[in-house]
Amino acid sequence: MVTKKTVDGEIVFVCDICGLGYLDAETAQKCEDWCGKNPETCNLQISQKAVYSPDIGLIIPKKEKTR
Ligand SMILES: [Zn+2]
Repeated sequence: MVTKKTVDGEIVFVCDICGLGYLDAETAQKCEDWCGKNPETCNLQISQKAVYSPDIGLIIPKKEKTR
């Protein structure tokens, strides 16, 4: 099941199998479905939307940061 957690003030939905986090529960659920059926692989279509990785932390750029 997908876990909702807050990282640096952002709510992310984490796939319990691979640990990647997404901004919406639907994508996280898709990831988990994929991971459950295809262990040890990553679906790029899904993982490119990840905004959180347990190794790296939050991947999304800070909203308040301007050029
Ligand atoms: Zn996953």
